[in-house]
Amino acid sequence: MAHLDESQLSTKRRIRINRLKRFIVAFGVVLAAIPLVLCVFLGIRLHRMSGELEATEEEKAALKEQMTTLANTSEIPDTSASADALSGNPNRIIDYDVAEDSGMMQDAASVDGQTHVYLTFDDGPSPNTAAILDLLEEYDVKATFFVVGNTDAYAKDIYRRIVDEGHSIGIHSFSHRYQEIYASEEAFLTDFYMLSDYVYDITGARPTICRLPGGSSNTVSNLDIPELIKDLNRQGIRCYDWNISGRDAEGNDLSSEEIARNVLEGVDRFQTAIVLLHDSGDKKATVEALRIVLDGLRERENVVIEPVTADTPIILHIAMDTDA
Ligand SMILES: [Zn+2]
Repeated sequence: MAHLDESQLSTKRRIRINRLKRFIVAFGVVLAAIPLVLCVFLGIRLHRMSGELEATEEEKAALKEQMTTLANTSEIPDTSASADALSGNPNRIIDYDVAEDSGMMQDAASVDGQTHVYLTFDDGPSPNTAAILDLLEEYDVKATFFVVGNTDAYAKDIYRRIVDEGHSIGIHSFSHRYQEIYASEEAFLTDFYMLSDYVYDITGARPTICRLPGGSSNTVSNLDIPELIKDLNRQGIRCYDWNISGRDAEGNDLSSEEIARNVLEGVDRFQTAIVLLHDSGDKKATVEALRIVLDGLRERENVVIEPVTADTPIILHIAMDTDA
């Protein structure tokens, strides 16, 4: 009986020992497998990340190339591919801000100690103009629109709304085709008066202010710009550049917050603040930025928002003779 018990006991012990052995072996295998699995996992991640890095590098190189091309093609991006369907001008060129360095920007001293802010919109009418006008109405603010030629019914309503709602309407260019309007002074004035007559026919108001496409310091024109401006002055037209830009013409990926920040930081630097913004169908962010700008201006003391009129101090990027 005792013998049987003993052999039973030793069998049980063997089983237990065997089980323990198996456990130790299994534990060893698992322990050895962990670094192996980790290695494979990290290897895969590394491979993926280096792929992403490569893609980013490629993107960076493409961007760099684009920037170089832009810089070499007289700083004016050709937007013929993204033709403005509304205006029907497939060769329209979007303004590219030049002479933007704040150091070069003129200011005009305030006569009443207040900062005078002029919000100006280039290139409309566009599908966004109605929204811009609605916002200006909501804030009870008058602005300035440097318009282009656009013959559809919506655009005609927009020209009328601009004038009827008390904003300033100025000439930008009928065709907005830089190569054509800057080919000669005659070509420029033909385009100019085509738009002037057109706006007058529709609104009954004859524009007396203008903004040269690309600004007075644009690098496309071979014209004698000071001479052209003097000629326009003699015809009762005052030309305005800007000293603050929302920089919304430099691609469509600027957020509304960035555009608004560009404007508000500029306003804090000048006493006469002529703000360049764009009224263009693909610039929804500008419309959203406008609300932020209007809120920001409302918070500031001693700031008045006005439309550009014959009394507005001239801000130009180029130097003019004083007897102009
Ligand atoms: Zn323009």
